[in-house]
Amino acid sequence: MKESTFSRRAFLAQSGSCAAHLALAAAVMPKTARGLWSASLGRVVAREPFGNLERIDEGVWALVSTPLNGDSTTVSNGGIIVGKNAVLAIEGFNRPAGAQWLAGKARELTGRWPTHVALTHYHADHANGIAGYVTENDHPVVRATARTRDLVIERNKPEDASRAAAVRDSVVITAAEPSTLDLGGRTVRVVPRLGHTESDVSLELDEPSIVFAGDLFWNAMFPNFVDAIPTKLATSVRALRRSRDTLYVPGHGPLGHGPEYDRYVTMLDEVERAARAGLAAGTSATDVAAKFSLPSSLGEWTLFNKIFYQRAFEAWYRELKPA
Ligand SMILES: [Zn+2]
Repeated sequence: MKESTFSRRAFLAQSGSCAAHLALAAAVMPKTARGLWSASLGRVVAREPFGNLERIDEGVWALVSTPLNGDSTTVSNGGIIVGKNAVLAIEGFNRPAGAQWLAGKARELTGRWPTHVALTHYHADHANGIAGYVTENDHPVVRATARTRDLVIERNKPEDASRAAAVRDSVVITAAEPSTLDLGGRTVRVVPRLGHTESDVSLELDEPSIVFAGDLFWNAMFPNFVDAIPTKLATSVRALRRSRDTLYVPGHGPLGHGPEYDRYVTMLDEVERAARAGLAAGTSATDVAAKFSLPSSLGEWTLFNKIFYQRAFEAWYRELKPA
């Protein structure tokens, strides 16, 4: 996609919204991604070496982690949604200290320790700190799909008894259909999806329109395809996109609106195109990865790890290659 096409469409889609100026800036600034990384779409209420807590609406906060600074307390993004009767924390983070920090912020901001915790998927950086929510007096209800619960216990290393104990009695999120969580005057839609892993969920608010996308959305960071089912991922990311102005909280990277989300979808399409072309030409996934680069029109995408391109093509080859 040409830069001008992206920028014009992004601007038209967002004209009048708070992201319009970002889309307009994208038309003239080559380093779109870097600019977005440092821009806060919410109001920062707490700053730590591992991330910033941003207030994004009445009773809704997002933790935007900054692991590239070298602090891996949280690594993934997450957040807090408060209702009259309950406080939902989203994600368990990389270490118990991360979950404990977010829970402490919830108490500071809302007067209550989280009553519920939702996991978007099993990956260690989203789940391994979950025991940090449990104290002598506080035992938040953990919600996860059965598959996510099992994978946290079976796969995440190093094994940890307090983590296993925290997720073992999870209230199961049905993977069959969307469900709701009533926090009191605020209903969170819990939508089972897949593609980043075999079991993902998004946590969604309709008014205001806010989507906690888990790792189905990465903003300005190239995603980890280690467990990806790329065709399912492509379907899920399109299903998550709302037509009205929406704030998307990605699993990694800064908050985004429609233009940032669309840029991500276009980026995934580039990976798919290169994978299909490589397969058709008989090129190995390793060689495709070695030669791959994203068009500059898509702005900058940080690679968490050099291996991420290779994992992406390996995931595509797993799905597309005839057995
Ligand atoms: Zn993940």
